Amino acid sequence: MSKPTIKCPTCEKQQEWDSSNPHRPFCSERCKMIDLGAWANEEYTIPESKSASDFSSGELEEQIDKDQPIPPTMH
Ligand SMILES: [Zn+2]
Repeated sequence: MSKPTIKCPTCEKQQEWDSSNPHRPFCSERCKMIDLGAWANEEYTIPESKSASDFSSGELEEQIDKDQPIPPTMH
């Protein structure tokens, strides 16, 4: 039986589905980071020990905060 293959959403490279790959469906951490927009964010300093899911959820919350308009002060 052949292994199932998936296409990396970032570089569209066909790869074998590897359940030990923490970056799937991306082929690598780099492609995953590109998809998350981390490269455009200037800060590509992600601690290796921190899990990617923690990073992305924190990132999202931060962006939501920034996007929220400051309500005018009511007197
Ligand atoms: Zn890729």
